[in-house]
Amino acid sequence: GAKGSGKAQWALFHDVMDIDYRQRQRLKSDLREALDKNELFLVYQPIVDIRDHRIIGCEALARWNHPELGRIPPSVFVPIAEEIGAISDLTRFVLTTAARECALWPSPLKVAVNLSATDFRTTDVAEMVRQSLVKTGLPANRLEVEITESTLIEEKQAVSKALTLLREQGVGVALDDFGTGYSSLSYLHALPFTKLKIDRSFVADITTSDRSLKLLSNIAKLSKDLDLTVTVEGIETEAQLAAISRAGDIDQVQGFLFGVPLPRREIAELVERVAYAPGDAFKMRAGKA
Ligand code: C2E
Ligand code: MG
Ligand code: MG
Ligand code: MG
Repeated sequence: GAKGSGKAQWALFHDVMDIDYRQRQRLKSDLREALDKNELFLVYQPIVDIRDHRIIGCEALARWNHPELGRIPPSVFVPIAEEIGAISDLTRFVLTTAARECALWPSPLKVAVNLSATDFRTTDVAEMVRQSLVKTGLPANRLEVEITESTLIEEKQAVSKALTLLREQGVGVALDDFGTGYSSLSYLHALPFTKLKIDRSFVADITTSDRSLKLLSNIAKLSKDLDLTVTVEGIETEAQLAAISRAGDIDQVQGFLFGVPLPRREIAELVERVAYAPGDAFKMRAGKA
């Protein structure tokens, strides 16, 4: 956790709106510098098959430990990167670093990378992805990009075009945080998604609310009808896992129950160890992100 009064104070900010003007100005100039000096890094969270709990891949998540202010969460620094025109630098760094790392893991483990709406507005996303694959030698089918519903709605034309080009390359495309925005499943049908990630807000009360479980189960069923791989995010407890398993039609789970996001060295050890060990032996329990 955050230590020292300065860091403890910053650890309380989860949203860019919580920050006042002066703090924001400081983060803007410091983030530019941090990107130039390679102070950002990635952590990787396992995504596991719901049936045998094998790791199928990991999601890469960006981290920034500010030398004085401590951990700044991506919910704060990603919008700032967008604002200062540095998002494509951040995304290029994340894509290349994640692809290089994944190329070291046992095949066919995959890596997933988050894209932002601004990426589609400012960059040729398909070309940027292609370059990261060429540079690292990672096969396209081991990379997946994740976009949120709001990205889809804000940049419909650019997203639609880029996703088609990414699919032609063989890159997977996931709709992230499903259920937090306003898109419908029929709307998604028009776009070449390969995966739907159901947001963790659906999981929170799944063990106490029959309606929540039914809702999740129906989203999963409709997604399967559209030939999408279904991942449920935010599984924290055995009880939630049991409820999800009963719901059916879910392929993969991700959450603190199976593993928190880990630095590259630790995830490399983990994937080496578990790639050859089926069953529950490698299930991890909640620790520190
Ligand atoms: P996301 O893509 O939905 O990533 C999952 C988030 O949920 C991560 O938060 C992860 O640490 C958290 N999480 C995973 N399992 C659990 C769980 O069981 N319980 C709870 N309570 N949380 C869980 P994180 O790393 O803070 O990232 C937040 C969001 O920031 C991400 O949501 C993603 O939208 C964005 N983000 C992170 N890295 C990047 C990046 O490199 N580029 C862009 N554009 N956005 C990023
Ligand atoms: Mg994601
Ligand atoms: Mg998500
Ligand atoms: Mg999320």
